[in-house]
Amino acid sequence: PKPSGRHFHKDHQLWAPLTLADFEAINRCERSLPKNFNFAGDVLDQWSQKEQTGERPANPALWWVNGKGDEVKWSFRELGSLSRKAANVLTKPCGLKRGERVAVILPRIPEWWLLNVACMRTGLVFMPGTTQLTAKDILYRLRASKAKCIVASEEVVPAVESIVSECPDLKTKLLVSPRSQNGWLSFQELFQSASAEHSCVETGSQEPMAIYFTSGTTGSPKMAQHSQSSLGIGYTLCGRYWLDLKSSDIIWNMSDTGWVKAAIGSVFSSWLQGACVFVHRMAQFDTDTFLDTLTTYPITTLCSAPTVYRMLVQKDLKRYKFKNLQHCLTGGEPLNPEVLEQWKAQTGLELYEGYGQTEVGIICANLKGQEIKPGSMGKGVLPYDVQIIDENGNILPPGKEGEIALRLKSTRPFCFFSEYVDNPEKTAATIRGNFYVTGDRGVMDSDGYFWFVGRADDVIISSGYRIGPFEVESALIEHPAVVESAVVSSPDPIRGEVVKAFVVLSAPFKSSNPEKLTLELQDHVKKSTAPYKYPRKVEFVQELPKTITGKIKRNVLRDHEWDRT
Ligand code: ATP
Ligand code: MG
Repeated sequence: PKPSGRHFHKDHQLWAPLTLADFEAINRCERSLPKNFNFAGDVLDQWSQKEQTGERPANPALWWVNGKGDEVKWSFRELGSLSRKAANVLTKPCGLKRGERVAVILPRIPEWWLLNVACMRTGLVFMPGTTQLTAKDILYRLRASKAKCIVASEEVVPAVESIVSECPDLKTKLLVSPRSQNGWLSFQELFQSASAEHSCVETGSQEPMAIYFTSGTTGSPKMAQHSQSSLGIGYTLCGRYWLDLKSSDIIWNMSDTGWVKAAIGSVFSSWLQGACVFVHRMAQFDTDTFLDTLTTYPITTLCSAPTVYRMLVQKDLKRYKFKNLQHCLTGGEPLNPEVLEQWKAQTGLELYEGYGQTEVGIICANLKGQEIKPGSMGKGVLPYDVQIIDENGNILPPGKEGEIALRLKSTRPFCFFSEYVDNPEKTAATIRGNFYVTGDRGVMDSDGYFWFVGRADDVIISSGYRIGPFEVESALIEHPAVVESAVVSSPDPIRGEVVKAFVVLSAPFKSSNPEKLTLELQDHVKKSTAPYKYPRKVEFVQELPKTITGKIKRNVLRDHEWDRT
């Protein structure tokens, strides 16, 4: 089939497919977006060709294991033919049409990747969700999106069945399971008999491709709609310079399939570079399985949430020899400098942090080769012009704290989400003057490095001082008693609000005298950072409230503090 993202090649007088260099140039704003683009046709099928001509090493495109001895390895060619079969399942027996939305609630199984690519090939809008969603979450998502089809695994069926009568738009239920289920079409059965002949739809670059839900750290998750190019071309630089991938690399990105981090690390950035996506079907994070996997498989690149690294550095990592690991990444939450230092001391490897959002992808990152300043999220990533602005949309100079924002050029940057589905007010609220506002506060230093302060709502104002939770948490974690902490505002009759820390203790300190330890921690923070930031209240807890993705929900603790009084 003809590639859709082709352009007129002046040297050869031919319509040539876009290359990686073209995608990079688009991200650097040196060339314009092609009119049409389809990630499956223009990227994946090209890698499949390169595989056949030997321009790509014999590395799988997808390498899946489940820890029980099962394994799947697909080349780009196999991914191509299998996803064409899956595309035929979606359009023929399921009767779905271009532009319709498909909710896909599957654990980390190979079919997730097949259906994702199948949706690209058919122009269907892929809408993933984690299997940890409750019936209420699923109902909200199906109704809000007016999805025509739900694809689910067995464990999700009861939840879907309990709400399906309230979803009038849903016309097809597709089950991914070796067993069949009344009222559900069987993916496995239909897939067996589906043809592998399918020609990829010629999608427009700005045509909707996927809807990703935000993590819901601050409230109900928002539905961010993305286009073929926002995800499919927009992650080129991130794959090359942040993930530092080549086609011979194997990346293990641990994100659950329901979040945009899976799109970045396990689909777009990785496959743009022709790298192998490694997947372990771990239902829940488990340190031993994790360490075992890294020592067994030739994984070169690891990407995981800060919370995972915080747990790992509690272990004696020097005892392990990670087979081929070269490059480690993190993002989604701020990374405490102490964790970075410990990871480095124990493994000899740097930890490259990225900062981004479901809505706009990666905004700042520590790119490979760039000096890392521990505690900073790195510099702005192209095509974005990242600035710190005030409440009136004016740019603030280096060193001044304000809101992290992206400058809107004459047109909306192509890697932006197109909208929050059916929520024009919320979409409009992200714009302030010439900027898109992230809702996060930070500082840029004179070298152009960005330092995260906190979500705007999480900043504590005590006796007129503004205190960002991240700095206090980073000071606390330096103390050997602290595994992790959440710092929030708590009411105070004199100061209005004060800093309160919820602290999870490390094993050796669990039986310490709480009063004594509180004083010790307060003293430590006073020495480590400006004394006025120390937590006047400290509470020891077994665990912190977190989102499914492992982000600390400070708002839950804060609301509880304020409701109590
Ligand atoms: P919701 O918008 O539903 O409340 P969310 O903002 O957590 O949830 P995501 O889009 O998954 O949803 O996360 C983006 C946010 O995560 C950023 O706005 C920022 O607050 C935080 N974040 C991501 N990466 C980093 C990082 N490296 N350092 C600090 N914060 C980060
Ligand atoms: Mg958000």
